[in-house]
Amino acid sequence: MTSVNPATEDARGPSRASQLEPEYDVIVIGAGLGGLLAAAQFLRRGQRVAVIERLAHPGGRFTAKTFQGAQVSTGAVHMLPFGANGELAAMLRALGVPHAIHDSEVFASFHVRGRQIVTRSILQLASVLGPRQFAQFVRLGYDMLLRDPRPDERAQTYRDWLDQRITRERSPELYAYFERVCHFALSVDLDDVLYPEIVESTKNMFRYGAPGIVEGGCAALTGELERRVTSGGGALALETETLAILSEDGVARGVMIRDKRAGAETILRANLVISDIGPTATRRLVAADGANVPAEAADGAPGAWDEPVAPSGRRVASGLKTHLLADYSVIPHRGIMYCLDTDRIAGIVQPSNSDRRLAPPGKHLLITHQLMRSDDVNAEREAARADLRYLFGDDFGARVRILTMSQYRDEWPVNRKPQGSDVSPRTGLAGLYLVGDAVKPSGYLMVEGVAQSVNALLDTLDGWDASDQPPAQPAAPATPPKPSKLRAFYWLLAPPPPHPGSAGK
Ligand SMILES: Cc1cc2nc3c(=O)[nH]c(=O)nc-3n(C[C@H](O)[C@H](O)[C@H](O)COP(=O)(O)OP(=O)(O)OC[C@H]3O[C@@H](n4cnc5c(N)ncnc54)[C@H](O)[C@@H]3O)c2cc1C
Repeated sequence: MTSVNPATEDARGPSRASQLEPEYDVIVIGAGLGGLLAAAQFLRRGQRVAVIERLAHPGGRFTAKTFQGAQVSTGAVHMLPFGANGELAAMLRALGVPHAIHDSEVFASFHVRGRQIVTRSILQLASVLGPRQFAQFVRLGYDMLLRDPRPDERAQTYRDWLDQRITRERSPELYAYFERVCHFALSVDLDDVLYPEIVESTKNMFRYGAPGIVEGGCAALTGELERRVTSGGGALALETETLAILSEDGVARGVMIRDKRAGAETILRANLVISDIGPTATRRLVAADGANVPAEAADGAPGAWDEPVAPSGRRVASGLKTHLLADYSVIPHRGIMYCLDTDRIAGIVQPSNSDRRLAPPGKHLLITHQLMRSDDVNAEREAARADLRYLFGDDFGARVRILTMSQYRDEWPVNRKPQGSDVSPRTGLAGLYLVGDAVKPSGYLMVEGVAQSVNALLDTLDGWDASDQPPAQPAAPATPPKPSKLRAFYWLLAPPPPHPGSAGK
């Protein structure tokens, strides 16, 4: 079958809910990155797969629309946290999905004391922090990366841990460094995440590699994945909403869907239902069938499958993102410019350095990201504009102008569970599993976590997760071993080299 996305619609015509078969091996709810990756994996295993997406396009928070000649994304800043060496890139290679990733050639740059300093390696951070704060940085880095968290540190939030060691007053740049990396990379505040999760995430950032921009942006990547799903025989029904997850005696049996254009409601049957819409919305769909929503995971594992919240009580990671068009290049590299001297903006990327087609000819695309600190949208936007006035002076509004400014929270957040508060792929119903950015295993950020959620699902189904008996099938686990810790040493001089399989389509 084919999709109704104009970019990929072929002579066989669009797939609509009415053209779906009554029964599949696997039904995937949601054609976000997690749903598309899961669908491609099940197709590779020879299963009959249907993907149900309520919007008119696939990709969820990892696609883009062309606006004034620029690729304005629905969520992600066109960046893979671990670049060509990451788990998403590895899965794309394994699935044979064409892609190219342009890894950062620097550690990062830092806007500090009114100017930008580019650092190619960790050692060059000394020029950002000065000798005293750099010495503190080395000491904290040793604690974080070279020894395991002690028992008393395990329950500490990142803020508690930092506040016991440095103060914002005495070490302003160093404090801002830890805070802004946390805001930009994890989209959570220092109170929202436990220290051990920061340790795992930081270790992974160093051992995997530099972040990378996807050639063509998010839309190119999910467009290729969509083609992989449809050309592999999967059915992708767009503008089709899942209304309920059907179950019998605690076992998922299918879904009730509605064709949003025709209004027709249909039942689709499958013994395996994969939800990419997060645990909260998934629970709602289970309850919509009139079923009691079991609080515990189907295998009896303790804890409610939708309950985990951040230590601060936050249920999702929210943020505010601005797309800007600049007449000139602001960031002289492919990585992130962290802002240590702004009030809210945590970092900025210039993805047009990696692919000029992401911006109109002669312009650069800049994307800023910051946390939402309150529910007052106007105040949050004004804080962003104040930072932009500070960063660009008289150029702001003239040579550097805002294309879009949007907040991401509630049903369309940055992450459906804050880093470290993620749930397992198992749910309260047998045969119903979760993928996506509420199922990020510890230490995996954003779309790296989404890819790992699909690996975790496959391992759960194959009996490789710890809660099961020895694997039912002798296949190797889907979750690959981590790269060597020694790779982190590259950063003393420069970023690790990009994966050789990442260049060119
Ligand atoms: C501002 C912002 C910046 C970000 N920056 C980055 C970044 O630079 N790098 C990075 O790696 N990640 C980034 N992320 C995170 C990344 O975008 C997400 O982690 C990822 O796209 C989530 O994919 P998903 O498949 O889990 O969910 P989604 O993309 O949300 O997919 C879920 C899909 O389900 C559909 N759906 C929902 N309900 C139903 C229903 N009832 N029936 C049918 N379909 C339904 C939705 O329409 C959606 O298409 C960012 C996110 C935001 C918001």
